[in-house]
Amino acid sequence: MRRVLVKGAGVAGLTVAHELAARGASVTVAEVRSRIGGNASWLAGGMLAPWCERESAEEAVITLGKASADWWERTLPGLVTRAGTLVVGHARDASELARFAARTRNHESVDEEAIAALEPNLAGRFRQGLFFAGETHLDPRRALEALVDKLRAMAVVFLFQAGEIAPSGFDRVVDCTGMARADDDLRGVRGEMLLLRTRDVSLARPVRLLHPRHPIYIVPRADHHFMVGATMIESDHDGPITARSLMELLNAAYALHPAFGEAEIVETGVGVRPAYPDNLPRVKRRKDGAITINGLYRHGFLLSPAMATQAADLLFNASADN
Ligand SMILES: Cc1cc2nc3c(=O)[nH]c(=O)nc-3n(C[C@H](O)[C@H](O)[C@H](O)COP(=O)(O)OP(=O)(O)OC[C@H]3O[C@@H](n4cnc5c(N)ncnc54)[C@H](O)[C@@H]3O)c2cc1C
Repeated sequence: MRRVLVKGAGVAGLTVAHELAARGASVTVAEVRSRIGGNASWLAGGMLAPWCERESAEEAVITLGKASADWWERTLPGLVTRAGTLVVGHARDASELARFAARTRNHESVDEEAIAALEPNLAGRFRQGLFFAGETHLDPRRALEALVDKLRAMAVVFLFQAGEIAPSGFDRVVDCTGMARADDDLRGVRGEMLLLRTRDVSLARPVRLLHPRHPIYIVPRADHHFMVGATMIESDHDGPITARSLMELLNAAYALHPAFGEAEIVETGVGVRPAYPDNLPRVKRRKDGAITINGLYRHGFLLSPAMATQAADLLFNASADN
């Protein structure tokens, strides 16, 4: 049995640990933090939205991401919500909506009545929008915790607060340490988010509100929670959310529905997305034989299943050669 050390318990590390354990490897996951969470993966929106993301991303986001909802559902049944994505814009931002529509596909135009049918709480608020029926979402925190439980049941060993571990005890190392990984090509893209709670709004699916300067999305979660995200700032600074970003996110939430003005702010958070120059992830083999999975950028939950499969193929083929 191949002994594999996976470094990093973010979404990249946990998905590859699953892929390797499912193929019969003996897997240890080492994480410097004391528990799951606090990393970029913990702060994600959990949208599996390849067609919307194509607006600003390469076609590979669709090719690699379109099967990811099935991977999550197969791995953790009941986790994925298949309700699509609704994209709306105020009348003054009609050109933004037209631009978004032109840069994406797999959507249908929706008018005021259709928007109200999809999201009754938004009735009368937006005259036009786009509906991406094939998109899905999940709660990233539930996904990470459920994946850890499943991995433990598959005999994967977890080492929290792990120091440097000698690779000599393992046949292979898979490095999934995100921004901590020293890689000349890697940059950070800061993302600030909020968690709001209100009983006065209910949404069935992620809603994206287009705006020329501050496009945002709101993802509904259990127990009347809403994740509001996210800024995109070229910086690897992970300090607390700024007043400006907090105002912009709150303004946008309020613009989507004024009842968000009365919501409780449950949490603010800042995650740094690891990104390569083309904003696409990479599975790389280092000179010392270790494999790295990194650069998941805005698409950790969307693209990590494909990256995990690529890494497992590489690792098992490489092992067969030895
Ligand atoms: C606000 C926000 C919203 C987002 N929304 C979405 C979304 O809706 N959909 C989507 O698909 N993606 C989304 N993303 C992107 C996604 O969160 C990231 O792409 C993903 O989390 C990156 O995962 P990772 O495992 O590479 O990194 P991380 O989650 O940062 O995990 C790396 C782990 O490695 C650990 N580590 C570091 N050094 C070591 C070491 N030496 N040894 C052991 N462990 C170590 C760290 O502690 C950390 O736990 C969002 C990101 C942000 C910030």
